[in-house]
Amino acid sequence: MLSIVTPAYNEAASLPALYARLTAALAGLEWEWIVVDDHSADDTFSRIQAIARNDSKVHGYRLARNCGSHAAIACGLDHARGNAAAVMAADLQDPPEMLPDLLARWKDGAQVVWAARQRAPKTSRVYYLLMRRVPGLDTMPPAGVGLFLIDRAVIEAFRQFREQHTSILALIAWMGFRQATVAGRQEARQHGHSGWTLRKKVALLVDSVTAFTYTPIRLMTYLGFATALLGFLYAGFVIIHAIRGAPMAGWASLMVVVLVIGGIQMLMMVVLGEYLWRALDESRRRPRYLIEDTTERGNTD
Ligand code: UDP
Ligand code: MG
Repeated sequence: MLSIVTPAYNEAASLPALYARLTAALAGLEWEWIVVDDHSADDTFSRIQAIARNDSKVHGYRLARNCGSHAAIACGLDHARGNAAAVMAADLQDPPEMLPDLLARWKDGAQVVWAARQRAPKTSRVYYLLMRRVPGLDTMPPAGVGLFLIDRAVIEAFRQFREQHTSILALIAWMGFRQATVAGRQEARQHGHSGWTLRKKVALLVDSVTAFTYTPIRLMTYLGFATALLGFLYAGFVIIHAIRGAPMAGWASLMVVVLVIGGIQMLMMVVLGEYLWRALDESRRRPRYLIEDTTERGNTD
């Protein structure tokens, strides 16, 4: 059985179309559809309930608050019962008709199959360029991933990771297993708009960096040593001048030093702070998501 996992945030208009196309693309296969409503403000959940009432393959969960698509995907994977799961956005940008290609690779033995995007906006290209430099993440497609399929073994492995501040794609790439990539196709979003504001993109970038690399902290070390060395050398130079009776005067030079050193220190505190609050947040071990309602409870009317 194949589980299709779909995170949905304000996707009421897209879901019926996606359901119809999934049904057509997966005809003859055994499958289930797990739709996780990421606390949408529109009637996404009632659409899911309506579809689930007529089709027992469809299971809906509504999260208690908007947690972002990654938490919604985690919820979907936690409830998936298939031998493999395909994670697919609700907006039909990555057409369900690609699923047979992914399934073929899976049947050939791949445990993780990425449908690589062919083109991507500049921000995501920069993101993937950076992430692919991290050891272990070089299997991520350069223009990003539209849709991916993972084997039961990978679903089980994924469930052991309880971290919140991470990228699911990067985590799955990092986990290893037998990975394969197929060329994906993309269509334009027909309804609604992308939920990725610049703020969310920056948050994902910082999450991904802090989750997979300590490079920023290592850079702080180098910068710290370099600044200290330069500072001590210049201090020696100033002291020798003063002893020789020719102290250098200057408000301007003093201000430059104070501001530059102050700025470097502030930047380093920012880096430390980003790691530190995530460490504190993860140490609380809060659940990744809370379920407000499901179509399974029989209270859907
Ligand atoms: N999504 C979500 N929670 C959010 C934002 C988005 O569950 O807070 C879902 C959204 O409904 C879609 C998927 O995540 O199914 C991908 O989102 P989107 O299409 O906005 O992202 P993009 O295609 O721009 O990467
Ligand atoms: Mg999209």
